[in-house]
Amino acid sequence: MPDLELIPHTKRRKMTKARAAKIFLREQGQCYLCKRKLRVGVDSYQIEHPVPLALGGSDADEDLRVVCIPCHKSKTATDAASKAKRDRLVTAGLKTAKRSKFQSRGFAKAEPQRSATRPIIKRERTDA
Ligand SMILES: [Zn+2]
Repeated sequence: MPDLELIPHTKRRKMTKARAAKIFLREQGQCYLCKRKLRVGVDSYQIEHPVPLALGGSDADEDLRVVCIPCHKSKTATDAASKAKRDRLVTAGLKTAKRSKFQSRGFAKAEPQRSATRPIIKRERTDA
């Protein structure tokens, strides 16, 4: 998978009944995964993004497909796994990106300053 972490989320347009019906008719009510013919008013169906929007998939009507409920459920689970993988890559990317090549020595660990029994001691600043 090339540069999975660089793919932005596609903006989702509103799925209207008219939009769903148009896609259903074009696909002739066939689930694109199990190829089952779905009957209008009998079988429930959903409109699906074959490539999830979260992974940069298209939201154009011609790229949307009809799916039956069981297929959509398993597809959603698979997509969730891909998204989780992408998120892990993004997180890993940020973690390595934040680290500078030129690292300072850092600060010496300070003695604990405040305690109930010991007064605060002002220490002299040492510029390294
Ligand atoms: Zn199906």
